[in-house]
Amino acid sequence: MIEHKFKKKFGQNFLTDKNLLNAIVQDAGLTKEDDVLEIGAGAGALTQILSQNAKSVVSYEIDADLKETLLSLNLSNVKFYFQDIMKVDIETIEKDFGESYKVVANLPYYITSPIIFKFLSKSKKLSSLTIMVQKEVAQRIIAGSGGDYGVLSIMVQFFGEAKITRIVSRKLFYPEPNVDSAVVRIDVRRRDDSIDSQDFLEFVQTCFSMRRKTLKNNLSKNPKYKIDKINSEYLSKRAESFTLDQFILIYKNLVEEQG
Ligand code: SAH
Repeated sequence: MIEHKFKKKFGQNFLTDKNLLNAIVQDAGLTKEDDVLEIGAGAGALTQILSQNAKSVVSYEIDADLKETLLSLNLSNVKFYFQDIMKVDIETIEKDFGESYKVVANLPYYITSPIIFKFLSKSKKLSSLTIMVQKEVAQRIIAGSGGDYGVLSIMVQFFGEAKITRIVSRKLFYPEPNVDSAVVRIDVRRRDDSIDSQDFLEFVQTCFSMRRKTLKNNLSKNPKYKIDKINSEYLSKRAESFTLDQFILIYKNLVEEQG
């Protein structure tokens, strides 16, 4: 790698361990038929392994200082974009793909949730995400109840099925971060189109806005929600006591009542 000044603000913690990089590719179930999107190429450690194991790779990197290093790898089936992925709309990103693609990435941790939400809620072609995230975030993603259970868990469940495929020591990153990590695989399921997912997401977020308060307390802050239409038994409980199906039920009821 051409000498690189690591930038904390971009979440730059690079991987070098070959075994781990291969394991990520395995966790993603990649084959030579797959087209892959990588978010955050870094110095290209994962990009190279993806390039060897997939049909094609599209990789976004925000830091233009890495351009020379990445282009000098001469990876013939990889297309790099030096852009902030959050500023590119999903239709533009997906123009590079046919019917489906997989996301495989060691994510920049400061935007883990926005990336997951963006791709799950807006994509029309994504089949799975296999991503390195902070261990604590991984636990929130897969939680079915308890303290880790929240908006992230519900949204991921709404769009797909998630599992932790491995826990990764902080020692395997350079520079070493303050926390351990985990690889999470989310398989996207085609979802119930009768629900406006953005609006449903906003509803669930409102329900959880103050974790220790009841649905009544949280929802009554927004006059858009006509809480008198919701069963009072639900209203007296906290968001964390509801399953995804129950949230869907309450939401549908609310929307129908609004007409
Ligand atoms: N994949 C590499 C680097 C992971 S670190 C490896 O595993 O070694 C995360 C990378 O994401 C960094 O290179 C960082 O510059 C990049 N990044 C951060 N924010 C980004 C954004 N908004 N869009 C695209 N890339 C981003």
